[in-house]
Amino acid sequence: MIIDTHAHIDGADYDEDREEVIERARESGVQYMVNIGCDVESSYRSMELAEQYDFIYATAGIHPHDVKSITEDTYVHLRQLLLHPKVIALGEIGLDFFKNYSPHDVQRTHFRNQIQLAHDMGKPIIVHSRDANEDIIAILSEFYPKDSTARPGIFHCFSGDQELADKALEMGFYISFSGSVTFKKAEALREVAKTIPADRLLTETDCPYLTPTPHRGKRNEPAYVNFTAEKLAEIRGLKIDDVQRTMALNFFELFGIGENAKTGTVSYKIRNSLYLNLTQRCTANCTFCTRLTKPVVQGYNLELKREPTTEEVWQSIDNVKNYDEIVFCGFGEPTLRLDVVKEVAQKIKDAGGRVRLNTNGHGNVINKRNILPELSGLIDEISVSLNTDTSEAYDEICQPLPMFRNGIYDKIKEFITEAKKYIPEVQATIVTHQKDVDEAQCETIVNKEFGVKYRARRYNIVG
Ligand code: SF4
Ligand SMILES: [Zn+2]
Ligand SMILES: [Zn+2]
Repeated sequence: MIIDTHAHIDGADYDEDREEVIERARESGVQYMVNIGCDVESSYRSMELAEQYDFIYATAGIHPHDVKSITEDTYVHLRQLLLHPKVIALGEIGLDFFKNYSPHDVQRTHFRNQIQLAHDMGKPIIVHSRDANEDIIAILSEFYPKDSTARPGIFHCFSGDQELADKALEMGFYISFSGSVTFKKAEALREVAKTIPADRLLTETDCPYLTPTPHRGKRNEPAYVNFTAEKLAEIRGLKIDDVQRTMALNFFELFGIGENAKTGTVSYKIRNSLYLNLTQRCTANCTFCTRLTKPVVQGYNLELKREPTTEEVWQSIDNVKNYDEIVFCGFGEPTLRLDVVKEVAQKIKDAGGRVRLNTNGHGNVINKRNILPELSGLIDEISVSLNTDTSEAYDEICQPLPMFRNGIYDKIKEFITEAKKYIPEVQATIVTHQKDVDEAQCETIVNKEFGVKYRARRYNIVG
């Protein structure tokens, strides 16, 4: 099931076959569709569509192209529309300095006015931004503080650069990609799309415009949102199920529509791997980790009311042969439950599966012995989070337990060196974009000092 967060099927392009278009959307798995208002008339038409169809929701707002025609009455209508239970956001609003259908100062004024209205009515906004990066950021930052945990709305049909994306994310926005991300020449946009955290990613058609490949050139429609989701999955190294699940949860978190992710997840599938969640406890408290605040990965909620037993973990695996690998991971340190890791790994190996262990590398200190010989034959691959190039930076960023400080970093290095003796494949990883970390130096340490595989990943991109 997929969500089209931005469609314009109220327009004349669909007068001949609107019902068929809606039917095709349903048949192709569109779970929800948001029809977007651009002026007063289209906002009313959107509301009517939302009244007619359960799975359609609406927004109301005045597009920057049309703000030149705003009157006092317009705001009365918008207020009225926003009271409707299926009118879920104010938009699309913003700045368009590409087409320039309305004067820039008028655009700025009504962008501010409409944001203020959204604030007053407690609604998220749908932002349209074209060739106006600086002004968009300047105006939005008047209303939405940096590093806020509030979610102000969606940057729709994102076409900006990395800087705009980062600024929008800082203010709490979701970033929605349209069919333009599938276009052959959109390499730069795809690079940006790779960096959007999973919990901020959405997709849309913006139909009738921006028809994704392979239908480019034809009229767009909500059913085609799948092509964009496919492309997003592909460039992020995921399966379409993964981005769909993640985006469904994002949609729920923003609008309260759909289902929240259930807690108590013991095993969860991402790509063709099955991940096992043994504990939420950890001997570190990395500054970037949302283990305690929001233990969600790729649409799965890993909050555990209690830790699962060996039997429960084993029972949660349908068939090890269905997966490329079974990974001990989760939002916590698996070696805190070493016995469970060993028992479950043994069962997986006996059943012919492949096992990976993702760890913070504290296992020998936690268990007060060298645990690596015990893992020999049970674990095929181990992935250790090194994260920094110095011990000081490690203590600063990974915040190990007080008794582990001033030295755990060297123990992790020892752990990696020792792992090479017992585990066929060893890799050391870092989470990129951390303050005071020399990423090139990390890579040198991993390649030269350990001679193992190095992997740098951005937090919350792939589970
Ligand atoms: S080691 Fe892993 S689970 Fe523990 S705090 Fe750091 S990122 Fe989170
Ligand atoms: Zn737009
Ligand atoms: Zn639009």
